[in-house]
Amino acid sequence: MSRDKKVSIITIKVIIIYSVYFNAHKVYKYIFKLIIDDSMEDSIEKIKNMAIEKGANSVKIIPISDISVNDWVRQKCEFGCRQYGKRFACPPYVQPPDETRKRLKEYSKAMLIEFTDLKERGEWREIQKNMASLEREAFLSGLYRAFAYYAGTCRLCDVCPAESLENSSLFDKKKCVNRRIARPSMEGAGIDVFKTARNAGYQIDVVKDENMCFKSFCLLLLE
Ligand code: SF4
Repeated sequence: MSRDKKVSIITIKVIIIYSVYFNAHKVYKYIFKLIIDDSMEDSIEKIKNMAIEKGANSVKIIPISDISVNDWVRQKCEFGCRQYGKRFACPPYVQPPDETRKRLKEYSKAMLIEFTDLKERGEWREIQKNMASLEREAFLSGLYRAFAYYAGTCRLCDVCPAESLENSSLFDKKKCVNRRIARPSMEGAGIDVFKTARNAGYQIDVVKDENMCFKSFCLLLLE
């Protein structure tokens, strides 16, 4: 056999081996992705059911692009809210809207959880604890980036040490007595809850009378 012919045969063999390997690699990658997607879907379904069991009225999975972040929301916290500077889960201790936008880009979806027929703000404490459990469950199920945002201010303690601080700094956050489960308020981080809920197809109106039942939304980022 001539030298040229031998080189051609070797070249063809290399091409065949390469294409078999390459395509097999693509097939394995595809199968692996299907398995991961499937187990992620199972985990999400489990968290959704858990949220309903814990008292949520309904749960929706939304694309991260449906979460509306605006600077004016933070302004409402800074001017007009009695909790400003009084809870470590509120401004100035939570990240500003620009930072929230950046952080949201690290996720593709979130769970928006609706709680209805709330009569008093005290019910938020239980909701916050439940959200912490959901975040933990999501983490343990493999959605290790899971992160919760609470509705409104933090109600985990009757009195927050933030209230008594003079000359506070961001490092005072370490004085939070429930750091493991305290999470930022959606509004404090600049999330427009009304717009986000409406984007997801929920009806939400301003509550005009303090004695009326109200609804509340919490967010669980998932990845
Ligand atoms: S958990 Fe307690 S200490 Fe921490 S932010 Fe909430 S109210 Fe403040």
